[in-house]
Amino acid sequence: MMRFADASLSTLIQRDGHECACGRTHKVSIDYLSIRSGAIREIPQALDAMGAQKPFVVCDVNTRAAAWEQVERVLGEAGVSYTLFCFPMTQVEPNEEAMGSLIMAFDAGCDCIMGIGSGVINDCCKVLSHAVGRKMMIVGTAPSMDGFASNCSAMIREGVKCTLTNAAADAIICDVDIIREAPMRMIHAGLGDMLAKYVALCEWRLASLITGEYYCENIAQLMRTALRRIFDSAPKLAMRDPDAVQATVEGLVLSGIAMSYAGLSRPASGFEHYFSHLWEMMALERGQAFELHGIQVGVGTLQALRVYDQIRELKPDREKALAFVRNFSREKWEDELRRIFGRTAEPVIALEYSTFHNNDSQEHAVRLERIVSGWDEILRIMEEELPETETIAALMRSLNMAMEPEDIGFTWQDTRDAFHAARDTRKKYLTSSMLWDLGVLYEMEPRRG
Ligand SMILES: [Zn+2]
Ligand SMILES: [Zn+2]
Repeated sequence: MMRFADASLSTLIQRDGHECACGRTHKVSIDYLSIRSGAIREIPQALDAMGAQKPFVVCDVNTRAAAWEQVERVLGEAGVSYTLFCFPMTQVEPNEEAMGSLIMAFDAGCDCIMGIGSGVINDCCKVLSHAVGRKMMIVGTAPSMDGFASNCSAMIREGVKCTLTNAAADAIICDVDIIREAPMRMIHAGLGDMLAKYVALCEWRLASLITGEYYCENIAQLMRTALRRIFDSAPKLAMRDPDAVQATVEGLVLSGIAMSYAGLSRPASGFEHYFSHLWEMMALERGQAFELHGIQVGVGTLQALRVYDQIRELKPDREKALAFVRNFSREKWEDELRRIFGRTAEPVIALEYSTFHNNDSQEHAVRLERIVSGWDEILRIMEEELPETETIAALMRSLNMAMEPEDIGFTWQDTRDAFHAARDTRKKYLTSSMLWDLGVLYEMEPRRG
């Protein structure tokens, strides 16, 4: 069996995929992938690999300034014709308006999409690629998120955040010379999105132990190895060191590959991401601006690590947990969600009764037994997967990253609410779900540093 952690990027993306000890064959559909200094010169090869000739190029004012001149030169030298669409603003919202602009400008004579950018441009191009049935290349301009190789887009529909699962990029070009010049907050965002992986991997193992859900050690090991490289070089991100930027971008791309391999977001996203998701839901409800995904996730990761510090001090109490669920009031729970989410509460509540059944007492009893009997194992997994909270805090501090909710415009009440309500928004077993199962979730809160 191939150990993914030892494999090169080009081996990992081989068409036929790889058989794995977990019983699955893991594969990802990427025609071309290059992450290095000067990668932009490989755009013609990437087009060839995709079987495409004429790209519909999408950028915004910022990404145009960051990379278009160089991309244009490469396309010109290779004699590639194209149609260019530039969003006439610096901040594009990934919503119906942006997608409408793209559809109206789309040149049907183009046989592929080429996004120049990261975050929003990447997400919008994935949706466009899916809608018009053309392959897509992303030319990354910032290491700000792990969506390069993932097949879902973070969009806003009718004012509500949603995740569309549609197309993934068929070619990924990340030129380290361009990416290292990205605004420092975007570099912080990429690191924040990677630090989350410590928590995500820990939670994946916990969830597998408690609910019996699928877990693959080979994929987890791939992520751990990428994380180690990033952590070791991260202090040099302050100087935009090429090796540190390279490690971060590779980690972000690998996160997408790992998610495709696993067929779920577990290798890259755990309850630290839910602080970000819920803060964003609150901000959208209030019509308030919010920070880059990865910056919020970095703050969420620190909160999550502090929650784990509290979990280490817990003693599971079976009777207390059973009494908690026996006395659980659906009315009070619904009222809490309405207070936290406002308009968005009703669909969340409806999903619990139709689909999630997170609050079902029979399923709870089964999970509780596994938690109580597996407590030593749970503590051991945390020990193996999680770094010291202070180690991560010190790294973030040294890089001048946002660390506390107040740094990104959210209060402690918002943070408490996000912590308590995260498990209600999905059918996904979170670390906070385990605390609910133990009957202690609502008496705990995130800690200040
Ligand atoms: Zn596997
Ligand atoms: Zn993320």
